[in-house]
Amino acid sequence: MSPFNNNEADTSETVFGKIVRRAIDADVVYRDELVTAFRDIQPRAPVHILVIPNKTISTMDDVSEDDEETLGRMLRVASDIARNEGLGEEGYRLIINCKEHGGQEVYYLHMHIVGGTRLGRMIAQ
Ligand code: 5GP
Repeated sequence: MSPFNNNEADTSETVFGKIVRRAIDADVVYRDELVTAFRDIQPRAPVHILVIPNKTISTMDDVSEDDEETLGRMLRVASDIARNEGLGEEGYRLIINCKEHGGQEVYYLHMHIVGGTRLGRMIAQ
């Protein structure tokens, strides 16, 4: 960030931060004061939606006690979205990848909702 202009955009902002502040488009399926949910740009299943906090949290390793309400909202909203998408009866999977070993690509906390087909084993053998 420029030392001369405190309003300059933070170039470290991730694509998900831009989606929250509506600087770039996404196929948003739900939004409230704490969380935003939108369809994954490269779906890995018939239904693939990401739920993110509106507040910037980089990874699960950065979560604090202050985030309990937001994390609870992410889970409850995921359940509602999954039901709305017709996944309630046959089920689905929620995934949060954390850092390198977890396979996290975008360093802005997000929960995947994946479903609409029988998913494979959770962890490749
Ligand atoms: P991760 O591997 O970090 O858990 O998952 C990141 C996910 O974000 C991937 O499934 C990827 O397809 C998705 N993604 C990356 N960039 C964008 C984007 O600009 N828009 C949307 N909607 N999804 C994105």
